[in-house]
Amino acid sequence: MRREARAVVVGAGLAGASLIRNLPRALRRPGETLLIDREEEYAFIPLIHEVAVGRVHPDSVRSPIPPLCEDRCEFLKADVTGLDLAKRKLETSSGEVGYEYLVLASGSAAARPPESVAPYFQLFSTLEDALRLRLSLRDAWQTGVGPRGSRERRPGELTVAIVGGGATGVELAAEVVALFRYLRKRSIRSPAVEPRVVLLEATDRLMGWLDAYFHEVAMEHLGRLGVEVRLNVPVEEASERGVRAGDEWLAARTRVWATGIEIPGPIRDLPGDHDPTGRVRVDDHLTLPERPEVYVLGDPALYKVPHRGSLYPTGSVAVQQGPWAARDLGRRVRNSASRPPFQFFDRGYAVSLGPESAVAEVLGVRLKGRAAQALYRSVLLYYLKSRRDRILTGADWAMERTLGRVGFEGVRLEASEKNS
Ligand SMILES: Cc1cc2nc3c(=O)[nH]c(=O)nc-3n(C[C@H](O)[C@H](O)[C@H](O)COP(=O)(O)OP(=O)(O)OC[C@H]3O[C@@H](n4cnc5c(N)ncnc54)[C@H](O)[C@@H]3O)c2cc1C
Repeated sequence: MRREARAVVVGAGLAGASLIRNLPRALRRPGETLLIDREEEYAFIPLIHEVAVGRVHPDSVRSPIPPLCEDRCEFLKADVTGLDLAKRKLETSSGEVGYEYLVLASGSAAARPPESVAPYFQLFSTLEDALRLRLSLRDAWQTGVGPRGSRERRPGELTVAIVGGGATGVELAAEVVALFRYLRKRSIRSPAVEPRVVLLEATDRLMGWLDAYFHEVAMEHLGRLGVEVRLNVPVEEASERGVRAGDEWLAARTRVWATGIEIPGPIRDLPGDHDPTGRVRVDDHLTLPERPEVYVLGDPALYKVPHRGSLYPTGSVAVQQGPWAARDLGRRVRNSASRPPFQFFDRGYAVSLGPESAVAEVLGVRLKGRAAQALYRSVLLYYLKSRRDRILTGADWAMERTLGRVGFEGVRLEASEKNS
């Protein structure tokens, strides 16, 4: 079946949803705007490392997409598989969709490891990845502290190797080491082998796209937590037993690949300039230079700020581009003579360093420790889409001390054995 809408928005993530929330009145009438997403619910990605270690319940970061459209647009659950820009139509798993204006806000996927090592790593960029990792960590711990006779003393049983020292790798490493500390406190038996978290980075800097301050604070804090950071070790060899890090063979049962993003199919194939990850160059109005009716927002958009270089793909960029594109669409459908260009307002960035600490630079002010952690949390609560998710996430953080961490029930059972 062929469908038509004046404006078609692909992706109900941070960019797409913030556009829909700010949709101009003229595009809110029935039949004017169609939102397409391949899922019926959105998972808030910036908190998945906390889901992986059981500090946040998966339901707290999920929100249904259809209510976003109430009184604003129609929703179609479909996978967009192809684009025909000349004919102004999309190929989707539910048939063709025609448009006058198209907004591509379909996000990114995790960069994959080279084929030779791919089978030996878990990826880390979706809620499903986080739940898979939670399971791996729980299994590793339960084997590590299992009854004496059954204890496998395999080297690396409780070693977690994380490849990629970007913000994702740093945040995950800090959370996993804090998880091991938490589990130690709650378990009757000590683990048969010493838990280790090793962060492997190919370059000489953690979070190289951020100011050197982030690297310095993270190196110092991760060291204090007990994370082993190895710089200048591009990982090119691995097996189901471990990873080669430079000259060293590191036995590791749990291996995570977190080296950044890549842009999938339909956007990668768009005409125009692309960077190596597949992001496509957009102009001052966030549209394709040769196709002013096609906007690209969020992670897939390669937007160059004058005198500064391209914006890094982050949530804070996506939530500024969505509302801006909504206003620009409003001007176009009203035939307004003035269309000011997109301007990015750099509020700064915050990176979590475990439950108790973070590092941030906000409006030129540098912060670290608990103050930065409080700021980090308030930014994430602000980005979370619904009031329900904000309350649930806040409650998960508050209740961790009393109710324990979700997903590590086996360990809690063990703790109750201890008290009986
Ligand atoms: C582990 C992790 C931690 C992060 N932490 C932070 C942080 O602390 N702060 C920060 O600012 N940023 C953070 N980011 C980055 C941030 O999550 C992204 O930059 C942001 O989500 C991008 O928004 P988006 O709208 O471009 O895409 P998304 O939010 O990913 O939304 C894309 C949407 O498009 C849909 N979609 C995709 N392909 C198709 C298709 N073919 N057809 C139909 N629908 C499709 C998807 O289902 C999804 O709903 C983190 C990222 C990761 C992986």
